[in-house]
Amino acid sequence: MLKIYNTITRKKELFNPIKKGKINMFVCGPTVYNNSHLGHAKTYVQFDFIVRYLRTIGYKVFYLQNITDIDNKIIKKAREEKTGWKEITKKYESSYLSDMKKLNITSVNKYAKATDYVPQIISQVKKLIKKGCAYKISDGWYFDLSKNKDYGKLSGRTLLKTNDSVSRIDENKEKKNKGDFCLWKFSKPGEPVWKTDIGNGRPGWHIEDTAITEKEFGPQYDIHGGGMDLIFPHHEAEIAQMESISGKKPLVRYWMHTGFLEIDSKKMGKSKKNFYTISEIFGKGYSPLNLRYFFLSAHYRKPLNFTFENLDYAKNSLNRLKEIISKLKKSKDKKNKKNIELAYKQFLKFLDDDLNFPQALSYMWDILRDNRLNDSEKYELVLKFDKVFGLDLNKEEKIRVSEKVKKLVKEREMMRKNREWEKADEIRKKINKSGFIVEDTKKGVIIKKR
Ligand SMILES: [Zn+2]
Repeated sequence: MLKIYNTITRKKELFNPIKKGKINMFVCGPTVYNNSHLGHAKTYVQFDFIVRYLRTIGYKVFYLQNITDIDNKIIKKAREEKTGWKEITKKYESSYLSDMKKLNITSVNKYAKATDYVPQIISQVKKLIKKGCAYKISDGWYFDLSKNKDYGKLSGRTLLKTNDSVSRIDENKEKKNKGDFCLWKFSKPGEPVWKTDIGNGRPGWHIEDTAITEKEFGPQYDIHGGGMDLIFPHHEAEIAQMESISGKKPLVRYWMHTGFLEIDSKKMGKSKKNFYTISEIFGKGYSPLNLRYFFLSAHYRKPLNFTFENLDYAKNSLNRLKEIISKLKKSKDKKNKKNIELAYKQFLKFLDDDLNFPQALSYMWDILRDNRLNDSEKYELVLKFDKVFGLDLNKEEKIRVSEKVKKLVKEREMMRKNREWEKADEIRKKINKSGFIVEDTKKGVIIKKR
């Protein structure tokens, strides 16, 4: 029986979706104005683990993610780069999707772009105006929080406490309440604009998610996920908007939030110069699957400390694991079904307890050390586990060998043919230094990663 920690009740709860066997799930996607960073990688890889698991235990999951392709940050970036806002979003959306693909994130059914839902957004704003939940000031339409008694139920913050908030609250002195947030921003000259009878403008940030989820799922759905930093005010605002529009509560049954990624035990931030984009990490000799393995090492709700030492540890563990698998693969041992079932059950048990991936991962290592299981059984089990981990353990790794190394390997071959063993060995050392090893087999030379 699956239990999930629900942010709104602050407890682990037995999971029970609206429709038996089916899950509608939404996770906040990125604002596409920059290359994605390690924090994004953590959030989306960990939700990928979660969705893979939900499917493994039999749920039919529709996993929806939005892409914020209209926002102040995008407009600002377009000015900086002296280009149009659409060029910016196109560029960074494709860079985001390519990073996600590299990270083996295969679970998302649909990426929904905010600008494809503008008619739904306008219709939601109009409904809020009609219900008296919204008011107009000089720069747009705002949600009136004094009309919403429930505000704060997710984050535990009240209207009075919104003063200490740091996270993207729209500032305007004409606002009725400090925490009121913008639904529809009137466009300034040169800004993106949609012409409507509530004023020419563009969507606020929070309304895009409720417009997307209402269109795709209706007014209520099962799981809403995102990074912990989005709880307030973003997710709180979503609840206020959608529950005011539909009158149906709750908007979402289970709220799931991932813990922060820290860099060298400090909060990640551009200003602190401890900020890494995903592609920067790939450029430093780590594979996307090294990162995936690293993200398995902490519980999704807990903060995870990134250091290159920790990433090296993940890389080495994954390499070791792949070596073990390639040996287990050759086993001709006869499998005992009961043994496999029993061990697999224990694996599911760890994940049923609020998706405890680090425990499931260390259980996998226990299995590999367990003398009561033979090699064929171990092999089958690890491949079953990997359906959830997504580490592609069974795939032969295609290694990219640089031209320089290829040349060295050829040179070494020549030396060996000429029986110049010392020179051949010198070249072998050079190859090792470049991060590769050569193995001489009956079929010829094999190049492997060190
Ligand atoms: Zn969102």
